[in-house]
Amino acid sequence: MTELKTYEGGCHCGKVRYSVKLDLSQPVVSCNCSICSKTGTMLGFVPVENFTLRSGEKDLTDYQFNKKVIHHLFCSTCGVRSFGKGTTPDGRQMVAVNVRCLDGVDLESIKVMKVDGKSF
Ligand SMILES: [Zn+2]
Repeated sequence: MTELKTYEGGCHCGKVRYSVKLDLSQPVVSCNCSICSKTGTMLGFVPVENFTLRSGEKDLTDYQFNKKVIHHLFCSTCGVRSFGKGTTPDGRQMVAVNVRCLDGVDLESIKVMKVDGKSF
């Protein structure tokens, strides 16, 4: 059973805005890799068709490192990482939404799954 709901979210200054269909009854990912440990993102992964960027395409800066398979996007004005994009090994396009950037979500109620990204 899923509880797919539509959430609105975005960066701090408001230039980057999106809608996303996401099931927040499922745990989100907290990762200890080199970038997540610094940025503190809590990530919910959705297929790209569940994500709609409403504004801010031109305000996003793309940061890539390591194997450069993930686009770590951030707002060039306020610096907030509200989502990222990547492709799974089997070629599916995924969006990783930072659930901290969703409107009206009680972060205390969200289950967190710790992922050992540092060891990947
Ligand atoms: Zn911004």
